[in-house]
Amino acid sequence: MKLKNVGVVGAGAMGSGIAQVSAAAGYNVILQDAYSDALERARASIEKSLSKLVSKEKMTKKNMEAVLDHIEFTTVLEDTCKDADLVVEAVFENLELKHEMFRNFDSLCKKDAILGTNTSALSITEIASVSKRGDKIIGIHFMNPVPLMKGVEVIRGELTSDDTLNTTLEFVKNLGKEPILAVDYAGFIASRLVDVLFNEVMKLIQEGNRPEDIDKICTLCLGHPMGPCRLLDLAGAEIAVHGMETMARDLGDAYKPHPLLKRRVLAGKLGQKTGQGIYKY
Ligand code: NAD
Repeated sequence: MKLKNVGVVGAGAMGSGIAQVSAAAGYNVILQDAYSDALERARASIEKSLSKLVSKEKMTKKNMEAVLDHIEFTTVLEDTCKDADLVVEAVFENLELKHEMFRNFDSLCKKDAILGTNTSALSITEIASVSKRGDKIIGIHFMNPVPLMKGVEVIRGELTSDDTLNTTLEFVKNLGKEPILAVDYAGFIASRLVDVLFNEVMKLIQEGNRPEDIDKICTLCLGHPMGPCRLLDLAGAEIAVHGMETMARDLGDAYKPHPLLKRRVLAGKLGQKTGQGIYKY
């Protein structure tokens, strides 16, 4: 199946990035969010990201305008779904909300549309369990920040068809990214590994280590491109906690989020998005 129209649902950090890279690859994109202020923020963040590419001479001003022309912004879910060949869901990491979205997709999307979810950790089969179109549902786990990260985890649910998988792999490649397959257990590969690292970071901080030193050890001694404290602030502590709770539920207590991390979430110290995480922004 040839994809032309891409609907992105949820215009937060991830949805806006997915809309941007899809439009840059020539797809017609409709980005939807339930809140119009989220759409305004998404538009501003896409413009800022594209402007950076222009100032680094990686994109011309004309191309930037063409990319922006390929993205429509809406609060109306029907508009995003009705002509989409592929829908990528990127709403909050909450199973009930994702179930609600996939029930909506069943009634609003074309019969042959592919339905992707950008979940960080929820099982694709569990998300698909409310849908009559399990063969069309697939995990397309983009990394943050989407325009910069080359790898995309692709996760096949129990019912995902070969056609859905192959079309999705082609789509990811067309974005200039590399799809990597992961098996459908909570956390897949990326979140499973990084959430364990985040939990260890909490223990290290509680034992008296400074976040700056933890980050320096990882970047200067272990070769990580970014320290885990900065990475946690970028990803959002609530997403990490949710991932860990999902993994603990499915895989055992070893994945339970550290109490210090949960306390930070309750206090609203989510990271860059709230101006305060492990660091101040
Ligand atoms: P975010 O909080 O930045 O954005 C979520 C958006 O969903 C918000 O703009 C919100 O208004 C919108 N939304 C909520 N309910 C909605 C509804 N009913 N209809 C339409 N829009 C709705 O979250 P994010 O960081 O972009 O994460 C989105 C998804 O991507 C989550 O599943 C998350 O686990 C996953 N993810 C996040 C990261 C990361 O580093 N942030 C990385 C990979 C995957």
